[in-house]
Amino acid sequence: MFDFRSVALLAGMSLLGTACGGPEAPRTETSAAMTWEEFRASAARDPEGAWIFDGDQAVETEESLRAYFETNMRGTATHRGGLAVYYVGGLDVKWSSAQQRNLTYCVSNTFGANKAAVVAAMNLATADWEATANVDFIHNTAFDANCTASQTGVLFDVRPVNSGGQYLARAFFPNASRASRNLLLDTSLFGPPGVWTLEGHLRHELGHVLGFVHEHDRCPGGGGTGMRPLTTYDSASVMHYPQVGSTCVSTNPGGPVLSTLDRTGARSLYP
Ligand SMILES: [Zn+2]
Repeated sequence: MFDFRSVALLAGMSLLGTACGGPEAPRTETSAAMTWEEFRASAARDPEGAWIFDGDQAVETEESLRAYFETNMRGTATHRGGLAVYYVGGLDVKWSSAQQRNLTYCVSNTFGANKAAVVAAMNLATADWEATANVDFIHNTAFDANCTASQTGVLFDVRPVNSGGQYLARAFFPNASRASRNLLLDTSLFGPPGVWTLEGHLRHELGHVLGFVHEHDRCPGGGGTGMRPLTTYDSASVMHYPQVGSTCVSTNPGGPVLSTLDRTGARSLYP
């Protein structure tokens, strides 16, 4: 898990266009021995009120953060699989079979001149997940003019945010309430190209939207967590940060794009 200085540095790496494998990002290692107080201190509130942990993973309440800690950080650190799904109370956090082919969203007009790029990148990123798993993302343009956290005409909203340097983008897990089902893109994403392309960021964030957690948390030698693994560890996963410490380095060829094991794992969760 990262502390926010690490995340800010990662964000800086991206903005500066440093290639993967560039200067190492310092990292606050976590382990099964991490206390709740330490884990809580590593999280922060974003402008939307969500609790953000491990870079860009978000939950709505402190209670949810505690539940994540209890389920995934305590006692089950031996489960280091590959693409893994958020797991709470013995259940996968995923969309129901009734919902998985109706994942509707709007793209806020407040993106202004950047909106066309966001729409195009969302089309590319959603198409990749749709070609892999039995899911369907649907852009409902009728709500773009009022694309807010309270817009009930769609499942989630895609909006610009000024995160104050906390993250480049953040999404949500399938168990979030409507108010927190936001895919937020920091204004800094629209500067010079970074390590990840815009559609690469969106592929990663949409992975969270589908319930997938960070792959680098299962890196051998990294901080172990206990989500339910779907494949073996995969350094090429779209859910893997470019570089975390000295041992967890992404081998994703760029973008990032979905790896072969990402496709295997996603298909197994959404057959
Ligand atoms: Zn993430």
